[in-house]
Amino acid sequence: MSQDVVRSLRDIVRTIPDYPKPGIMFRDITTLLGDAGAFRRAVDELVQPFAGGKADKVAGIEARGFILGGAVAHQLSAGFVPIRKKGKLPHTTVQVSYLLEYGEDVIEMHADALVRGERVILVDDLIATGGTAGAAIKLLRQIGAEIVAACFVIDLPELGGADKLRADGVEVRSLISFEGH
Ligand code: AMP
Repeated sequence: MSQDVVRSLRDIVRTIPDYPKPGIMFRDITTLLGDAGAFRRAVDELVQPFAGGKADKVAGIEARGFILGGAVAHQLSAGFVPIRKKGKLPHTTVQVSYLLEYGEDVIEMHADALVRGERVILVDDLIATGGTAGAAIKLLRQIGAEIVAACFVIDLPELGGADKLRADGVEVRSLISFEGH
């Protein structure tokens, strides 16, 4: 990706210090989504290595992963699978729980959203510790998906999530990165 594109995507992501709690630099992608050119560039760059039928489905993580994942799926002519917080999906689900800083959380997907052997790209807006994406990959593998890659607009490399996924055999693609939390 050209350095101009990286710079322009970095500049358009809005940073809100101390949100939702002190010490966190919240990387707000709504400014990127609201800019037609930046949104298109981000989606084009995310899909670029996967054009030509490399994926059957795109799985997006609630909620910002739905916006990006939906656009990625459309562009790849792939189906879309929502991965949601517990209790939101109406049909039979499979679940995975994962640890948060305090306590734990559960994500789920419909048990019939994928058939064994389908090739899936996971999409979310940002990877930090990798807890959320790692749980989503566990969930997808549990029902027999083949993970083609995990794609994020933003990586926070100091938190180690992308490296953790790579160590677990997942190809990770991110467009821009920020230092710190
Ligand atoms: P993690 O599970 O630690 O990799 O966190 C990733 C999830 O939390 C993603 O769904 C992000 O949207 C959200 N997230 C974590 N840290 C930030 C941050 N600094 N700014 C915006 N979103 C964040």
